[in-house]
Amino acid sequence: MPDLLIGTTNPGKLREYAEILSELPLRLLSLSDVGLEGLDIEETGDTYEANAELKARAYASASGLLSLADDSGLAVDALNGLPGLYSHRYAGPSDRDRYEKLLSDLRDVPDEQRTARFICVIALADPQTGDVQFTRGVVEGRIGYEPDLSGGGFGYDPIFIPEGYDIALSALPASEKNRLSHRGRAAEQMVPILRALIERQQNER
Ligand code: IMP
Repeated sequence: MPDLLIGTTNPGKLREYAEILSELPLRLLSLSDVGLEGLDIEETGDTYEANAELKARAYASASGLLSLADDSGLAVDALNGLPGLYSHRYAGPSDRDRYEKLLSDLRDVPDEQRTARFICVIALADPQTGDVQFTRGVVEGRIGYEPDLSGGGFGYDPIFIPEGYDIALSALPASEKNRLSHRGRAAEQMVPILRALIERQQNER
């Protein structure tokens, strides 16, 4: 079975990819499986694509393995698209610090202006060819007034209510979040790309 390195230091993302890609005939490896858990790549790009590519290329070249990495963010309309690309650096150090700051920034913003979307760009880097392929997924929704800590998820999940729902992403079962989320949608588009690569590798044997 071919190997695929999931290039993330975020345990939440790792868990989601393990579930979303579980149907594929691939051995999914984490950074710690290949001794690269200390390799955190600085996000110096000015697009999601640029940051995802930086990470995927760095992990592919350090490991010699087919490597996937994503860059994601939450774009809030009332904040002109912020925190967006800067979602991780918006406040810190914890997820809670970040979503509490966002709730406080939106304190006086009424219902109809609380619209937002999660964006995820996945880059898949092939160290054999040097090729990088991209997919993008988006989920529309709105920002709630209080965090919902009843369930799982990570990051801004406790304050993001997906369109068509009245509960936060954090309160949905993991399989449902993965079906509708920005990451789930981007990964779904990666599946045929990965299948084609697996087939190519098998034909080369
Ligand atoms: P990055 O893609 O690792 O740079 O993450 C950007 C920021 O968005 C981090 O603060 C993450 O916790 C957050 N984030 C990324 N994906 C998700 C998600 O699926 N749900 C909630 N927050 C997320």
